[in-house]
Amino acid sequence: MQFLCDFTKEELNIIMKELSEPNFRAKQLFSACHLYKSYAEMSNIPNALKDKLKEKQILDIPVEIIKVLESTDGTKKFLFKTFDGNVVEGVLMKYKYGYTQCVSTQVGCRMKCAFCASGLNGLVRNLSAGEILGQVLAVNKLLGGQLDDKRAVTNIVLMGSGEPLDNYDNVVKFLRNVSATEGINISPRNISLSTCGLVPKIYDLAKENLSVNLTISLHSPFDEERKEIMPIAKRYSIKEILSACSNYFDKTGRRYIFEYVLINKKNNLERHANELIKLLKGRPCHVNLIRLNSVKENDLEAVSEKEAYSFMRILNKGGISATLRRQMGVDIDGACGQLRQKYIENQGKL
Ligand code: SAH
Repeated sequence: MQFLCDFTKEELNIIMKELSEPNFRAKQLFSACHLYKSYAEMSNIPNALKDKLKEKQILDIPVEIIKVLESTDGTKKFLFKTFDGNVVEGVLMKYKYGYTQCVSTQVGCRMKCAFCASGLNGLVRNLSAGEILGQVLAVNKLLGGQLDDKRAVTNIVLMGSGEPLDNYDNVVKFLRNVSATEGINISPRNISLSTCGLVPKIYDLAKENLSVNLTISLHSPFDEERKEIMPIAKRYSIKEILSACSNYFDKTGRRYIFEYVLINKKNNLERHANELIKLLKGRPCHVNLIRLNSVKENDLEAVSEKEAYSFMRILNKGGISATLRRQMGVDIDGACGQLRQKYIENQGKL
């Protein structure tokens, strides 16, 4: 089973050739699927071609929105259903410049970070490029957005469920398609990819000529302590991550960002801030502090806003650019994987 928005324009060209269809059909199909039209809604495409595509098991709509929750702060949380009945979630945040959408890249996750709900049941499967893109296109359509400069979704963060670099090929294809002309055309400069630090893949990404913003989930400046909250730290050291980031900067010119989820007594002490300063001073980077969104499956504690700000001030005084991320959507299970987990526990009822 594949979907129209799994394909690049070039691939659609090849399929049209195989089906003895004129080339311009590829362009029409590409734009129509970026508008998230179903086959029934594609009035400019002949039924015979739609039938041929269906025969090849190429379908129209990869993910459907099955639930929308709205927070008091305007943040929206979406639950998407895939063709095989899996569910993934996404969040939409409204900012002055437009809408930022957070997308999922996998159903579940293999990384099993201690504070995160996405990995609670392990990895179910990778999402295809079209299933990732479909999340953006479905929301863009819902908001009344169209293509290119008429799009409603203006920014994307790959910070939903899943580890993007653990689904590398599909994620790269998604990045190329979402930023292609004649489609929704969101610039890579407005896209941030967040990773727990799969070092070899960070080197690969630097070679793709994509220039998305790179965000690293750091969460501790000490390897030994990082291993306790992020199993991936047993594979790659912080030193290796920093070298990969430097290479990314050299190749793309993009400043990188470290995410740091503050967990009470685990990583929010003065010694953590001081070590972060030592590690990061002078680097073209920024630290994004995040207050933990408590997950009931673990006993990790959040820090107060006041404590978070005092941690931030130590970093700032030490010459590190750092900000505290505004908490959004706490009342709608805003953190990764929380809503999906609830959906699974309640057997499909929300
Ligand atoms: N796998 C990728 C992307 C998904 S997580 C990564 O690890 O970066 C996106 C961000 O949300 C990460 O920084 C992650 O650490 C953070 N996050 C996950 N669970 C959270 C929680 N319960 N509270 C606050 N932030 C959380």
